[in-house]
Parts: sequence; C-alpha cells; structure tokens
Amino acid sequence: MRKGPWRFLLLALMAVSGMSCQKLGLRDMDRVRNYICLSGPPTMRVSVLRNVSSVTVYIDGPFKIVDPATQRMVRDGRYFPPTAITVDHGAFKIGSVPAACGALRIISADPRGVTLRDVSYRTEHVKEITYRGEIELQRTGGKMDVLNIVDVETYLAGVLGSEVPLYWPDSALRAQAIVSRTYALFQKKMNQTRDYDVVATIGDQKYLGAKAEDAKSRRIVGETRGIVLFYKNHLFPTYFHSTCGGHTEEVSYLLDSRSIEPLKGVPCPYCRESKYFKKWTETFTEKEIRDKLRRQRYKVGTIISIRPYEFGPGGRARMLEIVSNTGTVKMRAYAFRLALGSTRLRNTNFTVRKIGNAFEFKGNGYGHGIGMCQFGAMGQAKQGRSAIDIVEYYYPGVEVAKIY
Ligand SMILES: [Zn+2]
Repeated sequence: MRKGPWRFLLLALMAVSGMSCQKLGLRDMDRVRNYICLSGPPTMRVSVLRNVSSVTVYIDGPFKIVDPATQRMVRDGRYFPPTAITVDHGAFKIGSVPAACGALRIISADPRGVTLRDVSYRTEHVKEITYRGEIELQRTGGKMDVLNIVDVETYLAGVLGSEVPLYWPDSALRAQAIVSRTYALFQKKMNQTRDYDVVATIGDQKYLGAKAEDAKSRRIVGETRGIVLFYKNHLFPTYFHSTCGGHTEEVSYLLDSRSIEPLKGVPCPYCRESKYFKKWTETFTEKEIRDKLRRQRYKVGTIISIRPYEFGPGGRARMLEIVSNTGTVKMRAYAFRLALGSTRLRNTNFTVRKIGNAFEFKGNGYGHGIGMCQFGAMGQAKQGRSAIDIVEYYYPGVEVAKIY
C-alpha cells in the first residue's frame, strides 16, 4: 500500500521528463541517468557522395534552393523535376542555368525529402535514394560533395533499418538505436573542423535514407530518444559489428586506439544464430594477395608464408608477418583485411594455410569484433534481456544517460 503514491509520483515525473517508461520498463528507467543538457536532437552532416561532378535531384513538392553562406534564394517552386546539378569549370549549374555560389542547400517542404537519382553508391549503382531533411552540395575544386543535413533522430530511423533487420526483437533494436546515437554524436563532436560528421556507409554506419525507415524503426528510435552511453562522463566511439563468433575484441588490437574499459572485449555465446558464427573458409591465390597488397603500396614479392601473431583476448591477430622472395613485411592484420576486401576476409580471427599457389583462410565471425555484437544483442533479446542489459553487457563500465 505504501508503495502506491511513490510509484505514482515516479510515473508522473517520468511523464514530465518525456521518458518512455512503459516501453523500456520501469526497472530500466531507474538505470538511465537524467542528464538533460540539450534542448533537442543535434543536426548531423552525413556525407552521401564525395567528389562527383553531377547529381540528379528530384523533389515531388514545394522546394527552395538557397546559398547557405548568405541565405540568398537561388531557386524555388512548387515542384522540382529531375534535374542534373553539375559542376562545370568550377561553378554550379542547375540544369543549364549557372549558380554562382560555393554551396547549394536544397530544402524540400515535402516531408518525404529530396531524391537523388542514378547514384553510384560505393560499388553499387542506386537508381533512386531519398533523404529526409536537406541536401547540401559543396563545391570542392572542380567537383562537389553531397551531404544530407538531418536531425540525429531522423537519421537514426534510417540507420536502424539499414544496419539490422527490423523484425528483430525490440530490445535488440533499442540497443542498436542507443549505440548508433552515441556513435553518431561522438563523431559529430570529434569532427567539428571537418565538413561532415559521418559517412553514409559501413565506414561509420550504413544509412540508406528514408527507404530504410518504417513505422517500427521510428517507434524504436522514439522510445530511446536522447539516450546515449557515457564512459567517465564522455561520449566514446561505440563500435559495433555483425557477429563476434564467441568473444568481442579489445579495441587496441585492431585500431591504434587507446584501450578503455568498455572496449576491452567480453565473451559472447549469444551470436550462434548468425550464419557467420560457424567457420568460414576463403581462398585467395598468391598472385591475388600480392596484387592487392601492392595496390596498397606494400612491397612484397612472391609470397612464401603469411603468419598472424599478437592475438587479442577475442582471438584476433594484431599483426601479420608476410615472407616473400624479396623480404619480410610486417603489417597490421586490420590493414591486410581491408586490402583483401573486408567482405571476403570477414575478420582478422583466422588461421592461414598454404595450398599449392593459394592461401586458405579459415575463421569465424564477421566484422572487426569491437564493441557490441549485433547478432549477440539479438540473441540476448530473445532470452528476455532489455536494451540496457545488452548495452551494459557489451560496453562494461558505461553509464546510460538521457541528454535531451
Ligand atoms: Zn557475439
């Protein structure tokens, strides 16, 4: 009986502070520190395309195009038909009309956003991709960079649908939303002097714009609105990956980063459902490896042996020794993986065997192995663990805080 009024007061306080207590569970909201320091979601500058000379833009509704430096109106109208915006002799052209400014901000009054057509997105060619918020074209010499300027919560709804399947249990998706928000805001803080905060690919977080969102991704992001992870009162890079294969890795074994408690690696028996959990095998010919390494300017001759050494707590090699007929090269295993292609050489947790004039790599897991294991988060969610349980498991020593 005595608990009644207190419980009511707590619920009332949470309602006032905007916390979605029913969604996260009362037990969990006790574990979220109320640290409101921002009035609303910060804006992200997402690098969508770099160094292109033309982009076709289309808006199915009222729009305006302004010069962001002066706010001068360059063009407006009720509909923007598919039009190529190009950089020609160092100046913008909208269709055939020159626009003398260093950048163009394209603003749609239609909430569906701005569509880009025929985009070469990494190795794929995308026929059409739509972004919420605004598109900014920045002239860089004879070419341009394309940015999506969007508030972080809207960005996250697209990230969530691009990074993980939206049929996964809610608490795995909430964990991903908290981790992705922290990662994005950390990058924003670190890249203030750069002209963008994050790239739209797995280099940071995969972001396929509006088509990756749905009602569920927006709901999940809303339920975790403003919630981030702090370590010693600071945001930190909450790396994550697909499947650790049994143990996540200490950050310093892969990157030249300082080792911190939340990124030291933890055992993870939860990602067995991933098709990448079991052993994978990938074979490269000696010539293929030599060519790929030479393209990255490593001086190797005919390769005789490849030996991984200096293993992290998660079993991934920090270093590789490559013996060739012209000498021995020592390199970071991480750099070797990137040189060979990170989708074929799925991580640095492998053994190598020479078979004839080829090398066979066997390993398990997929991704760099640092921070949260996404399939592990899904496995834990299926066992009834909450989003807060999951993030506290993969990043030990963190504080979960709501900052707006
Ligand atoms: Zn795992």
